[in-house]
Order: sequence, then C-alpha cells, then structure tokens
Amino acid sequence: MTISIVLFTSDLRVHDHPPLRAALRGADAVVPLFVRDPAVDAAGFAAPNRLAFLADCLSDLDANLRARGGRLIVRRGDLVDEVCRVAAEAHADEVHMAADHSSHAHRREGRLRRALQAQGLRLFVHETVRTAVAPGSVTPASSDHFAVFTPYFQRWSQQVLREPLAAPRAVPVPDAVGSEALPARGDIADVSPGLAEGGESLGRRQATDWLRTEVSTYDDRHDDLPGDATSRLSPHLHFGTLSAVELLHRLRPEHGPGPAAFVRQLAWRDFHQQVLAARPSAAFSDYRSRHDAWRGTAEAHDDIEAWKQGRTGYPVIDAAMRQLAHEGWMHNRGRLLTASFLTKTLYVDWRIGARHFLSLLVDGDVANNQLNWQWMAGTGTDTRPNRVLNPLTQAKRHDPDGDYVRRWVPELEGLRAPAVHEPWKLPGLDRAAIDYPDPIVDLADARDRFQRSREHARGGA
Ligand code: FAD
Repeated sequence: MTISIVLFTSDLRVHDHPPLRAALRGADAVVPLFVRDPAVDAAGFAAPNRLAFLADCLSDLDANLRARGGRLIVRRGDLVDEVCRVAAEAHADEVHMAADHSSHAHRREGRLRRALQAQGLRLFVHETVRTAVAPGSVTPASSDHFAVFTPYFQRWSQQVLREPLAAPRAVPVPDAVGSEALPARGDIADVSPGLAEGGESLGRRQATDWLRTEVSTYDDRHDDLPGDATSRLSPHLHFGTLSAVELLHRLRPEHGPGPAAFVRQLAWRDFHQQVLAARPSAAFSDYRSRHDAWRGTAEAHDDIEAWKQGRTGYPVIDAAMRQLAHEGWMHNRGRLLTASFLTKTLYVDWRIGARHFLSLLVDGDVANNQLNWQWMAGTGTDTRPNRVLNPLTQAKRHDPDGDYVRRWVPELEGLRAPAVHEPWKLPGLDRAAIDYPDPIVDLADARDRFQRSREHARGGA
C-alpha cells in the first residue's frame, strides 16, 4: 500500500490543489496534515485575527475532506519533527507540499527535505499553489527579479497559466494516524469584533458573487472608501482558501475594464512575492535605502500612539485606523493614506507601521505588507518615492460626503461635508461640543520637515 502525506500550510482548500491531486495520483491513501508550529508564533507571524480566521479555515477544510471520506490531521510541534513522526506512523512513502518562497519557508523546506531523506522519503514541492506565476520564473534580462511593476506586469500577463484542478471526489485517509482537536475561533483571545469568517466554502461563495456582480465596476469603484466595493478576498488569498490561478481563469479581462483592473491587482500580489523571494531582507530592511533619519520612537511616541488609536485629528486617517482595529482589515485606499501619514507626514519609520498592521490584519502577509509599506515610505519599488498623500484632498476625493468617516468616527456623525473632514474649522461652540482631538500635526509643517529630510539625506548620501 502506498501512502502520501499532503502537508497543508497557506493553501487550505481542496479545489485546485496540485499537491493533493499529485499525492492522490500515486497513492492508495493520503494523510492531509496541518502542523501548528509554535516557532511560527514565536517569529511573530501569528496574530489573534489570523489565528481565528485560520481556525475557521481548518474546520472547513476538515469538513470538505470528510465529505470526501477523509479528515484533516492536525498536529502541534516543530513542523519537521511532526511530519517525520506522522510519516513513520502512517508508513508514508512521500510528502507533497506547496512552494513558499519566504526565507523562513526556504529554511524549513531544506530541513524537512534532509530529515525525510534520512527516513528514506521524498519531498515534492509544487509551484503555483499560492501564486499564479511562480516567483523567479519571470525575470528581466539583467536581474533575478523585477524591481518595477509595469514591466513585470507586461511579462506576467503573457504567461500561460496552468489549468485549474477540480476537487478530488474521494480522499481516503488511513485510520492509524492520530490528530489533535481542531483549534476553535472561540478559544482565541483579542480577536477584532468585526473579523470576517474564514474557510474555503465561504471564500468560494464570496468569489462567485464578486465575479458575477461587482467586478464589472471595479475599475471605477475600487477607491470608493464608503462604497466598500473591493472584493475583500485578500484573507482567502492569503490563507489559500482561494486559488489565484482558478480566480484568474474565471475572470475575463476582455469583458471590460472592471475585470482587467482586478487582474492587475492580482499581479501586484505576485509582484511583491517575487521581490521578497529575491530579496528576503526587504522584510525588515529598506529595499532601496534613502538614508532616512526617521524620528526616534521616544520623540514620536505620542504621535505613533495617536495614529494607532485613530486619534490623529485627521478624520479619514482615524476612520481607517479604527476600521483596522474593528475588522482586522482596511480598505486599500485607507492603507495607502495611513501609511503615507505615518511615514511622510509624521516621519516615522515604516517598520513601526508595518508591525502594527501585521498585529491586526487578517490578510497580514510579509511580502504584501512589508513591500506595500516600503512602496509608500519611498524605500521600496515606487518610481515616485517622494509622493505624499494629503489626507484632506484625498478625503474629499474618495469620501466626498463623509460617509466613511461617519461610519467609523461616531464623534463626528452629526457633521456633513466639508466640516466632517475638517472639524477644527467649526466655529467655537460647535467645535467645543465635539469630543474629538485637534490635528496632531500641521500638514504644511510636516511637508517642510519631509522635504528638509530629503535634502539632508541627499547631502549626506
Ligand atoms: P481587491 O482590491 O479586491 O484586490 C484583489 C486582490 O488583489 C487582493 O485581495 C490582494 O490579494 C491583491 N492586491 C490588491 N492590491 C494589492 C497590492 N497593492 N499589493 C499586493 N496585492 C494586492 N495586501 C495583503 O494581501 N496583505 C497585506 O498584508 C497587505 N498589506 C498592505 C499594507 C499597505 C500599507 C498597503 C498600502 C497595502 C497592503 N496590502 C496588503 C494590499 C491591499 O491593500 C490589499 O490586498 C487589499 O486592500 C485587500 O482588499 P481586497 O481583497 O478587497 O482587494
């Protein structure tokens, strides 16, 4: 009897799952395994919102496997040790898993390969499970990766995607292998009250609704803050409850600018993965150093806290930060505005913002989070690194009536536009009646400080 292990990591689905299909092809039975590795928590990759979403994903995966005659085996411990232990218990012959190009995953894969070899087992690592195009498979002539999005997107668009795979009809699992109880969302503390539910079943329904309706207007509405008209599929893409390959096959860019704009966003996701795969240090160091002398954390302490708590006095910034705390998710326009505000208006190191985002975001992903932060901070791949987003002009453009601000900042719910975006301009008694802070920084002064810092850095460089 031939037995294969399918090691699930951030690919928690049964549809379009190359490792699962490959394992089933050559084996009489498979062991679908997920290992909860404390080293991942210790390295700061885990956060309550992601753990809660993960718990939903694991129970849905288990249900989907049970519907096919199988079940999910969950173990806790060092991933390499647990896979080897399960392999011995199940008398397995090989292990299949998805490729992951982070440096942590590379080290782990190397250790796993060696440990399995010592036990006489082979490890098969499958590409295009997490991304549509594998990092490193599309490169410019002169480098190991693309540092600018537009040329990457041109080449990415020319790639022929593999065909998506149907979910298997049956998943036979040997009885002998023991499993821990599945983690439950209810056991996890400090979860954001408005956190979305996870799981492949829900993700697929959400994707189908999105592709049937709203994607057609995505090009027009993706920056509409109160309209909330983006897909909200990011947590599903992050946990792999949705496959980017399958999503792209279901999209028809030729059906109009909405789907075409959405495809472009999926390419951004692959773009950041290929940058981080080639430059793992970009997770914690400047991708392109500009010799920034960021304000010290002691000096900027109160500003950083006001930013985190959504009490900067700039309503659109505060609304976005409160959305993040409440939902563990933030609209992309909000992410851009709050990141620009922290790094360029308050002149605080992008790593502080990135860490705070990662502590809350349900879709928090090292490649996409750190490299989007670097893009906005000017240390990343942006070809206009000195751009500063003005929170007032941006608020008037993307939340013209103030609905987004009123939704998240109840202190301002009685105000109409334009006062809702500039409450400090209200006449004395009206202003005094509102318990909301004055702006923590003057935008003109902040712009001067940023420009001076650029001149200083250029002089010192
Ligand atoms: P949609 O607009 O519907 O886009 C569809 C999908 O495309 C998204 O689900 C996502 O997978 C991908 N995508 C869209 N924009 C980007 C982008 N700029 N970079 C990479 N992929 C993109 N995205 C994450 O998935 N994880 C993060 O940790 C993350 N951190 C961010 C931090 C900052 C400072 C900024 C500016 C952006 C960050 N993003 C991150 C990118 C983007 O904001 C989110 O992917 C998007 O808001 C998710 O909402 P959605 O699914 O409705 O997106």
